Amino acid sequence: MRASAGAQTGPVSGPLDTTDAPAQPESGAPAPPVVEVTQGREATVGAMTVRRVLPRRLRRTVGAWCFADHMGPHLVTEQHGVDIGPHPHIGLHTVTWLLDGEILHRDSLGSEQVIRPGQLNLMTAGHGVAHSEEATGSYRGRLHGMQLWVAQPESTRHDPPAFEHHAELPRVSVGSGDGTVIVGSFGDVTSPARSDTPIVGVDGSLSPGASTWPLRADFEHALVVMSGSVAVDGEIVVPGQLAYLGQGRDELTLLATDPSRVLLLGGLPFEEPVLMWWNYVARTREEIGAAAAQWNAGDERFGVVTSPLPRIDSPLPIWRRTT
Ligand code: MN
Repeated sequence: MRASAGAQTGPVSGPLDTTDAPAQPESGAPAPPVVEVTQGREATVGAMTVRRVLPRRLRRTVGAWCFADHMGPHLVTEQHGVDIGPHPHIGLHTVTWLLDGEILHRDSLGSEQVIRPGQLNLMTAGHGVAHSEEATGSYRGRLHGMQLWVAQPESTRHDPPAFEHHAELPRVSVGSGDGTVIVGSFGDVTSPARSDTPIVGVDGSLSPGASTWPLRADFEHALVVMSGSVAVDGEIVVPGQLAYLGQGRDELTLLATDPSRVLLLGGLPFEEPVLMWWNYVARTREEIGAAAAQWNAGDERFGVVTSPLPRIDSPLPIWRRTT
């Protein structure tokens, strides 16, 4: 079990390092309609191997979506699951979405919430929050899902943290499949979940065949295939990849060659420059350095998570290392 990443000198296992995102702030540059398929990379987060499809060097944000890890499928037990001990976040929302299994979320707001497939845990870090993701003590079996982050805009990123759990989300029907609107609006259906900038996230369950999805042309979009295989404008997309679709589409036709689960992400291009490091989304190196130092010092900024798992120390940002 990796209790501390602080002593590592190589690439940091877990959240973001410079393999994923550059060490200087950048804003996303939207493209016209394209199908730009990038391969994710494997990373270790807590006890799990994940496929990180966002950010990638060539594609850092899709709207305000700035991070997407595809977790599993992986077998877990009552006592061991994702096993991510208390760690901090700033400047982002975490969006946890499961296809199979259960995870127990605990945070420094006092939330203790089991999440199950079809439900949404949405935590807003704002100025600072800490949380853990644990085995439930009761679930054994397959765990499969997505861990996503949404960058907060300047107007909310210094606000206090918050947590929402949505047990019920609206469903939509699209061609050969149906979907759940996790966040934002899709056609005329709107999720009750908080979003601080215009974004959309839809989980689609597709039978083999074609489906046409309504899109907002002012959004940029991307597709993650969580299982199965889907063709987009003739390009096959499979799990472990991100298909960036650009901006300016008012609909999208997906051709599922197998029963497939897909995640559509979109939003207005996020124009504020973003600097991401480890579990922090900020604007400057100073902000990230301060957050890392405060977390490691046990500063009250991040509160306390009551968890049986060990607290995870923050690594030093690469630009603060002396070697
Ligand atoms: Mn986290």
